[in-house]
Amino acid sequence: MSRNVLISGASVAGPALAYWLHHHGFGVTVVETAAGVRSGGYPIDLRGVAVEVVRRMGVLDELTAARTRTRRVTFMKADGRRAGSLSLEALTGSADDDIELPRGSLTSVLYKHTRDDVEYLFDDSITALDEKTDGVDVTFRGGTRRTFDLVIGADGLHSNVRALAFGPEEPYLHHLGYRFTGFTAPNRTALDHEAVIWNVPGRMTARYAVDDPDRVHAFLAFASPQPTGEELRDREGNLRLTERTFATDRWEIPQLLADLRAADDVFSDTVSQIRMPTWSTGRVAVTGDAAHATSFLSGQGTSMAVVGAYVLAGELAAHEDHAEAFTAYRRTLIDFVERNQALATGSSSLIPRTRKALWLRNQATRLLPLLSRTKNLFGRNTTRAANSLTLPDYPTRTTEHR
Ligand SMILES: Cc1cc2nc3c(=O)[nH]c(=O)nc-3n(C[C@H](O)[C@H](O)[C@H](O)COP(=O)(O)OP(=O)(O)OC[C@H]3O[C@@H](n4cnc5c(N)ncnc54)[C@H](O)[C@@H]3O)c2cc1C
Repeated sequence: MSRNVLISGASVAGPALAYWLHHHGFGVTVVETAAGVRSGGYPIDLRGVAVEVVRRMGVLDELTAARTRTRRVTFMKADGRRAGSLSLEALTGSADDDIELPRGSLTSVLYKHTRDDVEYLFDDSITALDEKTDGVDVTFRGGTRRTFDLVIGADGLHSNVRALAFGPEEPYLHHLGYRFTGFTAPNRTALDHEAVIWNVPGRMTARYAVDDPDRVHAFLAFASPQPTGEELRDREGNLRLTERTFATDRWEIPQLLADLRAADDVFSDTVSQIRMPTWSTGRVAVTGDAAHATSFLSGQGTSMAVVGAYVLAGELAAHEDHAEAFTAYRRTLIDFVERNQALATGSSSLIPRTRKALWLRNQATRLLPLLSRTKNLFGRNTTRAANSLTLPDYPTRTTEHR
């Protein structure tokens, strides 16, 4: 067997897949459109089976050391009065072994443990894929042309590889009824390892102080009907709509909008999932958010990316035939993926849409700390979904690569 694999995307799924493919003896190249692995970032979570995967990678201690140590999450009412506070565990249903850490800490650790064994091409991207019987001819933005045995898209919700191999994203992108805008802002109220979430029906703002005492991760999210295809691609329009939606709100919201206008790291998108009937075509496959984005409402996207990378590499090592491997990859993972995606499709306790739903949520935040077993009210199915896969054991197999 002789296989060289090109991965598009160097965030979570890409480097995790690179790690496991190298472990199984494949030759790996990763192309990333950014100039390097992005550092910093909002907090993400590793839960359940994903914790076992990073333990098998030998990076569990490093990741545990980077934990956010979030003390509490406080919910505020429209006028800035406190509705209640919860521990992170009570809010998300996290188990003791689960790890919340800045996204950049995870990507840095994954990069550190692959960069000596894997070829990274930064500031580049794939512009064309031409599949032949014995490989895929790849054209890069920088002008280079190379041939790989397999190409894997690990390039996120709006995946480039998915677009090149499967066509436009519209059939796969499922809008969950919200839009969001994220950015970093000055920490004006001296938040310390905590999050403050403000709600009115159908709208939410969040400020999250993670590891930098001077800055917070800020989010504005709101209920919104299905955007048209054109609106989906209009990032600037999405941002302006966010500003208009919060324009009459009080408390600290006018300051947050001013910080948004001053920010240089704004990202704005719809809250969407990717659902595909297949994750491969010929010698091309997708993984991570590119295959099955679940949205921040589930808090499970990162865990799914890590687990998916482990399974995809393992199945490629276990099968001579890549088509059989891709089939086994999906068969092994699809139930796990659908259970975790289902976490985000019901009514959101982060952004309740009605006065009644918001009142009930706020009552729960007040009562929950009084109960003896405080876990799993908001994330009551999260632990179950996060553990809903029995991780296969893939024997290490040394594959000769060109
Ligand atoms: C606001 C927000 C909050 C979130 N909160 C949580 C949370 O609390 N818990 C959780 O588990 N998950 C959370 N997530 C989801 C989590 O970030 C993703 O599920 C996870 O990062 C998926 O990793 P990925 O590697 O598949 O994709 P991504 O992290 O999206 O990475 C894709 C990579 O591909 C690169 N790329 C894009 N286009 C190209 C191209 N043309 N060529 C080459 N490279 C390209 C990008 O630069 C990027 O490096 C959140 C996401 C967002 C947006």
